[in-house]
Amino acid sequence: CGIVGAIASQNIVPVLLQGLQRLEYRGYDSCGVAVQGAHGLRRARSTARVAELLTQVQDEQLSGSTGIAHTRWATHGAPAVGNAHPHFSFGPSQLGQERPGAAPQPAPQDGGTVAVVHNGIIENHDALRAELQAKGYPFASQTDTEVVVHLVHSLYDGDIFEAVRAATARLKGSYALAVLHKDEPHRLVGARQGSPLVVGIGRDGSAHYLASDAMALAGVTEQFIYLDEGDLVDLQLGRYWVTGSDGRPVQRPVKTVRAMS
Ligand code: GLU
Repeated sequence: CGIVGAIASQNIVPVLLQGLQRLEYRGYDSCGVAVQGAHGLRRARSTARVAELLTQVQDEQLSGSTGIAHTRWATHGAPAVGNAHPHFSFGPSQLGQERPGAAPQPAPQDGGTVAVVHNGIIENHDALRAELQAKGYPFASQTDTEVVVHLVHSLYDGDIFEAVRAATARLKGSYALAVLHKDEPHRLVGARQGSPLVVGIGRDGSAHYLASDAMALAGVTEQFIYLDEGDLVDLQLGRYWVTGSDGRPVQRPVKTVRAMS
């Protein structure tokens, strides 16, 4: 439903939560946030209001300079904390093959390797889930989205942008994605097909953002790039690259948008 992402040199949790609050009016059944901080990839999720998530984030002292946040409107899997985004991959289970159809086990809130938020619907989720379960990936939710996070994990070879690019080539359906990897704490990758995603360019050039709607970043920046169908974006501290689905750089215009708050 709604996506906000940020990469900066200071704590971005307030920007992420404020962004979610700006998207609240669209409706949602749950919300969540994941950040890269001193303690690795951590998250908080809730089926209550964003204000409740904020309290949780404060209680757990979640902070970090790279992060992603989401408001969910469930399409696959009931509205529940375990189905709320961000979804994590912790890698294949140590116990070996996961029994297909095994009941999902709740996943921990902290220590993820890959984190994903997603808007849209992955149509080939059943086939991908079966393939990933055969590789030993345990599934902790009933969502279509969770296949994306394990697929990215399975394709990762030291470059999260390349892993997301390879993963999106296998997805059918619609998606706007924002992805983090614990080993690349100053990197945020976005991709879209059939669902909107914009890049927000920070005022002083040191912080950059992602959002499903420019309005989420009202008051934060007025400079936006509207990603085209199939585009990906590699956001690093103070730099960004937009590419087509083949990974080759493309030029997209920067637009000034004064979103009404
Ligand atoms: N299909 C995903 C889910 O049900 C994403 C829904 C959304 O766009 O919020 O979790």
